[in-house]
Amino acid sequence: MKRTLARETVLRIGKKVLLQGWVNTKRDHGKITFIDLRDRTGIVQVVGGEALRELGSEDVIEVEGLVKKRPKNLVNPKIETGEVEIGAQKVTLLNESKGVPFPIDTDGHDIEESIRLKYRYLDLRRPRMAKILRTRAKVVKFIRDFLTDRDFVEIETPILTKTTPEGARDFIVPSRLQPGKFYALPQSPQQYKQLLMVAGFERYFQIARCFRDEDPRADRAYGEFTQLDLEMSFVTQEDILKMTEDLFTDLVKSIFPKKKMSKSPWPKISQREAVRKFGSDKPDLRKDKNNQDELAFAWIVDFPLFKEQTGEEFFYGSGSAKFAPSHHMFTAPHPDDIKLLDKDPTKVRGLQHDMVLNGYEVGGGSIRIHQPEVQEKVFELIGFTHSQKRQFEHMLTAFTYGVPPHGGIAPGIDRFLLAILGETSVRETIAFPTTSSGQTAVMDAPSEVGPEQLEELRIKTVKKNAKPSKG
Ligand code: ASP
Repeated sequence: MKRTLARETVLRIGKKVLLQGWVNTKRDHGKITFIDLRDRTGIVQVVGGEALRELGSEDVIEVEGLVKKRPKNLVNPKIETGEVEIGAQKVTLLNESKGVPFPIDTDGHDIEESIRLKYRYLDLRRPRMAKILRTRAKVVKFIRDFLTDRDFVEIETPILTKTTPEGARDFIVPSRLQPGKFYALPQSPQQYKQLLMVAGFERYFQIARCFRDEDPRADRAYGEFTQLDLEMSFVTQEDILKMTEDLFTDLVKSIFPKKKMSKSPWPKISQREAVRKFGSDKPDLRKDKNNQDELAFAWIVDFPLFKEQTGEEFFYGSGSAKFAPSHHMFTAPHPDDIKLLDKDPTKVRGLQHDMVLNGYEVGGGSIRIHQPEVQEKVFELIGFTHSQKRQFEHMLTAFTYGVPPHGGIAPGIDRFLLAILGETSVRETIAFPTTSSGQTAVMDAPSEVGPEQLEELRIKTVKKNAKPSKG
């Protein structure tokens, strides 16, 4: 017999069906037993005798039975299949479950996070978590369709690569073929997407995984995150903002119809004005800050191109450099301010734009530098040594072969979901996030590797506080 899904049972009243799924809950009432059977579409009540009584919570079962309409007073309006129940005729245990380590029929917020992450595959059985991941998939699909329809090309860029500076520490990967040399995982596809503009694609996007070795924060998981990375050629900053705003406006209408955007078009505020008026360059502009259904998007623009280097943040320039880029080193200066690069770099505005939602900086981007001499000047101001400059020589070389003016943006997917769902942590939006101390969910990484593997890579590890041996 073909399988019927829980949600479809309401369409099969009076018919015999075969259901497969998990025992969500069980209630014994003397001679009769009720179970809620759960599958990917929801739950449905099954009623029967002895065979059901022996089942345990989270067992995987198969039930053949008759779909019956429940009498009016027994209808359960809380579930989609509340009008029916299945009279079990044959019950088969497909796989037994031992007791789960924590309840999965609650929202889970009150359970210690480390244990939820250790058993994430059980935590994801929780309807709230399953719903978030399904919503996430819908968001990504919407983005793909929207951009593909507008002539954007989805292109994958390398994960094993060279440093891609976004102001964080790199993760490095040792090379076996060239011992003593290392790849870096991309902090973002920034340089590749600019090279794709040199290649002539004009419109690129990618649902890109980015890796940054920086301390975890509530709005960023440790180690890796996902962003919608996009880049366009022959555009103004206004064009990029309009495209992004159209995308997110349509996305909200389609996937979050209950949410209301407080302003359309989104307000555009200069960074200085935002800090002066709201005390932050990612202000929460909702009228009612507790209203989860209100979406206050905004653009923050006119950032200074440089910030004073404090030494607190990790950066690439030599330690003595006075300036660090506010955004990254490829952001173009405002054309009216180029003359100030020599005189007073702190007064130069960058063509940077940040997308803000309900107090979160969801993403940022900019118009890029496309003139090699301006790029050289910026490298100088951020204190690049000769050898640091050489690391980016491929960009300067590429820019000598006809580079279109270009720019882009990269809204974070995890972070957008955090903001729009009003979740407590970005980890609630990711299937298998790292813990706040950088341990991976379920699998115990980072972990030690065997001596043969280290030998092959010609790597020696030293105990903390021990001096590395020479040779
Ligand atoms: N690469 C930037 C980032 O990851 C985004 C951009 O400038 O498009 O923040």
